[in-house]
Amino acid sequence: MIPILITGGAGFIGSHTAVALAEAGFKPVILDDFSNSQQSVLQGLETILGHPVSCHVADCNDYNTVLDIFQREKIRGVIHFAAFKAVGESMDEPLRYYHNNLGSLITIMEVMLATGVSDLIFSSSCTVYGEPEELPVTELSPIQPPASVYGNTKQIGEEILSDTVKADKPLKIIALRYFNPIGAHPSAQIGELPLGVPNNLVPYITQTAAGIREQLTIFGDDYPTPDGTCIRDFIHVMDLAEAHVSALQALQVINTTSHYDIFNVGTGQGNSVLELVRTFESVSGQPLNYRIGPRRAGDITAVFADATKVNTRLGWKAKRSLKEALADAWRWQQHLGTSDSAG
Ligand code: UDP
Repeated sequence: MIPILITGGAGFIGSHTAVALAEAGFKPVILDDFSNSQQSVLQGLETILGHPVSCHVADCNDYNTVLDIFQREKIRGVIHFAAFKAVGESMDEPLRYYHNNLGSLITIMEVMLATGVSDLIFSSSCTVYGEPEELPVTELSPIQPPASVYGNTKQIGEEILSDTVKADKPLKIIALRYFNPIGAHPSAQIGELPLGVPNNLVPYITQTAAGIREQLTIFGDDYPTPDGTCIRDFIHVMDLAEAHVSALQALQVINTTSHYDIFNVGTGQGNSVLELVRTFESVSGQPLNYRIGPRRAGDITAVFADATKVNTRLGWKAKRSLKEALADAWRWQQHLGTSDSAG
């Protein structure tokens, strides 16, 4: 089994990708500092896979430790998730965000070059498209000036990748621009574990349904969309996880020494916030307590992917429905129970 390093592998997308990699016959090796994740994820992975997953507790900025892990685990490819991701916090703590998100990427790439490991998948984001003029967005849609420090770390991250490949360094890289990942593994053994009050819509919905939060606030119903609420491309986290496996397999058969490509990873379909709430009510069988509030600063009206490139070139397509994603998110919330462990 080929060992693949998953930085941030104890996080939401990382842990689901560990499952998808193992199911495809790779050996996932997790590197995580657990600054925004919990050790219990490892137990969930072990229950799903039937065996423990190799995990190293370390900071991706620590060159010597990362080098040691590459050598000991005989790493042959990397999926780099590890990053801070809270938009608001990134505006208050810019240096922490630039240091962590960019420093870790640079360190990982330096260790890859030092050890002769070529294949790298990078977590990017549809935030690079800002408020798009045309929908759906393709990979050639214009990149907009970043709206946050977090968004800028993703844009600069992509530039670091493309500049390194332009310089003919022996790295084969795919950046995946994620849309809105939701849901959980259908076993309810792993899922999203937001610390404190969730920023994202689906954990807020499931926590409200579980009685942890009193009421969901829908941020604005006066957007120029059919029902007035924002539109996003919500993708099941297991579909997104499997896109990483497809990307890795594609890199393995590329025989040039330097390569860089970018793919949107979305379903290709936009759904409104209100549609999501209604779908959740139908899969959970209970009404959701919500109110319409003011718009949230920085939110864009609508974004969804043109997924043609990833469908045709990587042979990957989202398979799971919005209903399935919300049913899995709800099952996961019920598994967690009604305690608000993180406050
Ligand atoms: N949203 C909302 N209430 C919440 C959280 C989110 O109405 O408590 C809306 C938000 O305004 C956006 C959509 O849900 O239109 C998706 O937000 P999320 O933070 O999940 O992802 P984003 O698209 O901002 O990355």
